[in-house]
Amino acid sequence: MNRKDEVLQTHLPTVMAPRFEPLPALKAGETRLVMAGDGLWIEAEGGFGHFRRPLWRSDRNLPYGRVEACSQLRCGPIPLKLIERFAKQANEWTDQGSEAVAWITWGPNCGWELLEPKILIHTAVSVRYTWPDLGPDTALVLDVHSHGIGSAFFSHTDDRSDLGFPHYSLVLGRCGRNRPLTQLDCKLRLCLAGYFFDEQAPWVQA
Ligand SMILES: [Zn+2]
Repeated sequence: MNRKDEVLQTHLPTVMAPRFEPLPALKAGETRLVMAGDGLWIEAEGGFGHFRRPLWRSDRNLPYGRVEACSQLRCGPIPLKLIERFAKQANEWTDQGSEAVAWITWGPNCGWELLEPKILIHTAVSVRYTWPDLGPDTALVLDVHSHGIGSAFFSHTDDRSDLGFPHYSLVLGRCGRNRPLTQLDCKLRLCLAGYFFDEQAPWVQA
């Protein structure tokens, strides 16, 4: 096999879901496509959690085993108080016409943290920033940003920044001073290797 296909297959291999034994476990940091009896699935092991979602449903039965969707959060639920702390700051920044960004990270030894980027340039139309290096045991669990008074949606820029390793992405909109998190517009999604899956934010009443 040529080098480029070898690299591609190493980073995102496709495996068949066995019918007569369990699917082999993924190692931390690995992502794969799984061809199952009902179609194609994507599965990722992010250290903080393990995820599997359907990518494509086949109309016909394929001769492979079955798998199920899963979200195993080894880190436990993302602390609501960190999201509320971010929402409070996003509301205050909205008054100054700015959007806010932060990472919520987790590590088995260091626990949860709300990290803000280092702002390099801040003008009326754009912000440039860099993120701190995360330790080897710390994972980005939730990438959160605000759209100020605008509505919450994922832009093409957001799509580009949500590629790569598995994490959740949250955008808050309709921000304003003293507005509680439950009154903000919000969109939450799970990001697995550049594929996005809408999720219900736990604080939003369906
Ligand atoms: Zn955005």
